[in-house]
Amino acid sequence: MGLEEKLPNGILLASVEKLVNWTRKSSLWPATFGLACCAIEMMTTGGPRYDLARFGMEVFRASPRQADLMIVAGRVTNKMAPVLRQIYDQMPEPRWVLAMGVCASSGGMFNNYAVVQGVDHVVPVDMYLPGCPPRPEMLIDAILKIHAKIMDEPLGPARAALLAEQGHSTDLI
Ligand code: SF4
Repeated sequence: MGLEEKLPNGILLASVEKLVNWTRKSSLWPATFGLACCAIEMMTTGGPRYDLARFGMEVFRASPRQADLMIVAGRVTNKMAPVLRQIYDQMPEPRWVLAMGVCASSGGMFNNYAVVQGVDHVVPVDMYLPGCPPRPEMLIDAILKIHAKIMDEPLGPARAALLAEQGHSTDLI
C-alpha cells in the first residue's frame, strides 16, 4: 500500500499549503510607497523602535516587482489613483493590500471631488486599518492579521477562485 493510501485524505496537501503560506507570510516585502501623513507612522514602524524586521519584512522595496504587500498609507487623490493601480498591477501574485488609516479606507475627512472615497475603488483591499493616523503598534497588529489571513489561504486553483470571488485579479498564483 502506498503512502498516499495510508494517510487520511488531504493531509499532504494541507501540510504543503501551511508550509508555503508560512514562507509567504514570513517574508512579506512592502512596496516603498507613502501618500500622506500616515506614511510617517509607516516609516516609524520600519525603524529601530518598532522593528518591523522582527516579522521578516524590513525590506521596503523600491520596485513593485519585488514587493508583495502594498500599504496604502494616506489619502488617495483621483490624480494618484491610476499610478497606484499601475504599481499594484506591477506587483506579482501573490500580493496583498492594506488600507492604512481612515483616509485610505474611506476617504476620511476629505469628502470632496479630489479624493477617492476608499482605495477599494481602485484595488482590492485585504485589510482595513482605522485611525488618523494609526499608531505603529496598530499597523503591526494589522500586518499580523494579514499573516493570519495568509496562513488560511488555499493554493492553486482554489486560491484563484477565492480571489475572483473577492474581486481580485486571477492571474498567476
Ligand atoms: Fe493623514 Fe489622518 Fe488621513 Fe492618515 S488618516 S492620511 S494621518 S489625515
